[in-house]
Amino acid sequence: MPDGTLLPPSRLVDATSALRIAGLIRLTTIDYPGELAAVIFCQGCPWRCRYCHNQHLLETEAAELLPWSEVMGFLQRRRGLLDAVVVSGGEPTAQTALGAAMREIRELGYKIGLHTNGAYPERLRELLSLIDWVGLDIKALPEDYPAITGVSGSGELAWSSLQILLESKVDLEVRTTLMPTWTPEYIQTLSQRLADAGVQNYALQVCTIARARDPALPAYTTPPQALMAAVDPQNFSHLERRGF
Ligand code: SF4
Repeated sequence: MPDGTLLPPSRLVDATSALRIAGLIRLTTIDYPGELAAVIFCQGCPWRCRYCHNQHLLETEAAELLPWSEVMGFLQRRRGLLDAVVVSGGEPTAQTALGAAMREIRELGYKIGLHTNGAYPERLRELLSLIDWVGLDIKALPEDYPAITGVSGSGELAWSSLQILLESKVDLEVRTTLMPTWTPEYIQTLSQRLADAGVQNYALQVCTIARARDPALPAYTTPPQALMAAVDPQNFSHLERRGF
């Protein structure tokens, strides 16, 4: 479990001057496989997933943000104690300041992990040389994304990002949140498509309906355990279940 604390934003910053950061977890053992890490939460996401439980991170702007100087001060003090920094969100790649921020983090000697929805494949491609590990959400088959994210074309962007990552040398974990309306056949098809594309590390997450952005999100019609059972473990070198 993360033993970190969400540091409260302490003062206002000019949101155009740097990466917009909503908060920081000081220590986690579960957000970057095998590494002790801090997590930076970026403000803003272009999508509006029905099951999102980070609603406070979705708008581009926020009344209060954590200054970059404060984050860097913290990371300087933790050199030698932490292995990695995970940039999460919201959607980190929505911000053009991300590359410069990652370069500064690397200069301190940290590995860099990225949690992304894959909404900006070309920006992701430009960042690859700065990143050691990526956790990529693949939310559905491409054509079914808009029913989850509310944004047309979002599926094609995410699957393009997947292709870019599979062709790179960056360590990759693909994650899927099980929609409560899915059938075993659907997750079987989706997971097979991912395996056929070359995904090796796959994680399935239960949707936390009580915290979902959309109050109309229904309860599971098929229990998540039954959905999980439809995924062939032989298809992946590592298959993980979360929240079951
Ligand atoms: S992509 Fe992630 S942060 Fe953005 S709305 Fe969806 S679940 Fe929330």
